[in-house]
Amino acid sequence: MTSNVIDIGRAPSRRRRRSRGSAARTHRGRVRASNEDRLLAAQGVYAVADGVGGGRAGDVAATIAVETLEGGLEPPAEADLVATVERANRRIHELGRRDAARAGMATTLTVAVLGSHELALAHVGDSRAYRLRDGRLERLTDDHSLAAADLQAGRFGAGRAAHRPLRSVLTRALGLGPDVAVDSWTYPAVRGDLYLLCSDGLTAMVPEPRLRRILRTHSDLDRAADRLVESALRAGGRDNVTVVLFRVGG
Ligand code: MG
Repeated sequence: MTSNVIDIGRAPSRRRRRSRGSAARTHRGRVRASNEDRLLAAQGVYAVADGVGGGRAGDVAATIAVETLEGGLEPPAEADLVATVERANRRIHELGRRDAARAGMATTLTVAVLGSHELALAHVGDSRAYRLRDGRLERLTDDHSLAAADLQAGRFGAGRAAHRPLRSVLTRALGLGPDVAVDSWTYPAVRGDLYLLCSDGLTAMVPEPRLRRILRTHSDLDRAADRLVESALRAGGRDNVTVVLFRVGG
């Protein structure tokens, strides 16, 4: 693992006071034996990867995804970003094919590359990206999960889809096949916009109005990140929880 992969894995700290342009936290949660989420928040590249697979294989998949991003992404070319995510997919898939212990390992990946004028975003899986602008929280990504597919097809109401046993099964993830469909976007980099990338360990535990309230209340991103993780833990912390916050022009 490299130094840019921050795995804090402990209770949120209240020590830091100085406001920064980004903040990142990851926590094992209250139930899981290990943390298979990985994050990146360095040099304008921000990412969350949530690994799945037995015997710590999810750990490996998420780490490969994040490490592949560290190989010098030039902001903010969306096509380059998608190509990099596709490369990560192939690396994970190949390793899963060669090593029986890691067969079927996979990971979500939601990644943003911030340049001076634009922001590129790429996404596979059920981690999420949100943007807070003028106090309004907008979800930028769709979940690639059975629950989201059910919702889209109108098979269940939002409440019931959220409580199906297989709701978190991914319909798209890195590592499942030699190719992957990557959702991607380019946005203008608007000064003051706040972006949140997070794993489903946050969004399955904390409803969106509460996410918005926390982000609006705490302009200090370290505090906001701590409050988000605390909320997930207080709600049960049933999964690893990871949050990456960054502000444009921050
Ligand atoms: Mg998760």
